[in-house]
Amino acid sequence: MSETTTMSQRPAAPFQTESFRLTRPQIVGPETPEPPFPIRLGGPVQRGFGRGGKDLGCPTANLPDESIETISSIAKTGVYYGYAQVLCPKKGNELSEEDLKVHPMAMSLGWNPFYKNERMTAEIHIMHEFEADFYEYDMRVVVLGYIRPELDYTSREALIEDIEIDKNVAQRSLDRPEYRKFSSDKHFVLN
Ligand code: ADP
Ligand code: MG
Repeated sequence: MSETTTMSQRPAAPFQTESFRLTRPQIVGPETPEPPFPIRLGGPVQRGFGRGGKDLGCPTANLPDESIETISSIAKTGVYYGYAQVLCPKKGNELSEEDLKVHPMAMSLGWNPFYKNERMTAEIHIMHEFEADFYEYDMRVVVLGYIRPELDYTSREALIEDIEIDKNVAQRSLDRPEYRKFSSDKHFVLN
């Protein structure tokens, strides 16, 4: 992709079909993260559009628009994997100590219909059962690899099935030494 290509000219990743779905690999990406990864993102968690998310058994926390400018200018739409951490706010913390640790995550980067598909949105599912919602809490994210392009869903069942596969692929892909290292990246707040 040339440097001069603007976001609006950039095509979304191609939609894939059933045959792709049936042959999905269980581990993706090289043994060591390669550029543009790691990509570090962060900011207060925003309210989404209330579509999908919890209804699909997969809540996704949204990062603020300005925090994803870098990634949306270099990365294609689709699903990514990495680590995320929710930070403890100064007051009103309803989360447990476990909730505030670094956890594996799967992120969907997609064109946002709310902005007539002129902007991207990053939605992050953290692979951990939280005690409570964490809207407005600061979230730190390290993106380490790409899982797949957006898929063209014919059914809700197929979508849910793919989300489950994504979580598995993310877990397995992160469970390699050069990826695990990033769970203690300097971007996170560690004790
Ligand atoms: P929204 O449309 O507001 O994004 P969702 O149904 O996607 O609604 O739920 C997202 C919210 O759920 C997050 O902002 C966060 O506060 C909460 N949440 C609870 N558990 C998780 C989790 N494991 N990963 C991401 N968000 C979670
Ligand atoms: Mg969401």
